[in-house]
Amino acid sequence: GSFRMSHMSLENVTMKFGPFRALTDVSFHIDRGEILGVAGPNGAGKSTLMNVCTGGLRASEGKVIFDGKTITPFSRHVRCGLGIAQTFQVPTLLSSLTVGENLLAGALFGREARGAPPGISLDEILSLTKLGDLLEMEAARADLLTRKRIMLGAALATGPEMIFMDEPLGGLNAEEIADFLDVVRHVRDTLGITVVMVEHKTRALAEIADRILIINFGEFVMLDTPEIVLNDDHVVEIYLGK
Ligand code: ADP
Ligand code: MG
Repeated sequence: GSFRMSHMSLENVTMKFGPFRALTDVSFHIDRGEILGVAGPNGAGKSTLMNVCTGGLRASEGKVIFDGKTITPFSRHVRCGLGIAQTFQVPTLLSSLTVGENLLAGALFGREARGAPPGISLDEILSLTKLGDLLEMEAARADLLTRKRIMLGAALATGPEMIFMDEPLGGLNAEEIADFLDVVRHVRDTLGITVVMVEHKTRALAEIADRILIINFGEFVMLDTPEIVLNDDHVVEIYLGK
């Protein structure tokens, strides 16, 4: 059998907003070094799940465990210092600064959060994100794919062991999607970073993910290889709304 190393685990996580449960009793493991896709219909709780992992939200009940440590009450800043990074659905950049300054800001944030320099060099980030020729450009002038690469570069500059991305492919055409997936593959393959990608484009997820987690109405549905998950009758029903 195969031995798996859990990098992050959720144990019976519930997230309430007032009386509303956006997540109910969710448990699963994220393997070290895997690319995990997270899919589910609009409003299923994907972004909520991601924020419970990265510290944007504190779980109302249950535990989040990273590298064997319970991190449930920790802020985003503390989790960043432990090696957990995140990119957002809408590119959040320091628009009036240059591309290079955006990467530097990520590096400074990471250094401050961990109290030590992140173990990744600017050269590595530039070669991965192909931003080397654009360092002096104002971030506001970049096209959507480039803004996404800048946001990813800044997140990598914090020196993460694990990175969460919320719908990174939104607004990109087929060619740009292939381009971005290539970068994500390199992030995992060359840096060994664990990747969790929330994405409703299931065909793209099937291409890149080792496993896919499906959630619906805030509940765990299944977690398995893309082939098994996307051919599952219940999952097909969820997507076709039957
Ligand atoms: P997804 O990312 O899968 O589209 P979300 O995690 O954004 O779904 O939202 C899941 C559910 O939780 C939705 O019904 C949404 O309206 C609700 N929700 C998300 N954030 C909040 C919040 N801060 N306050 C109240 N309800 C929220
Ligand atoms: Mg969302």
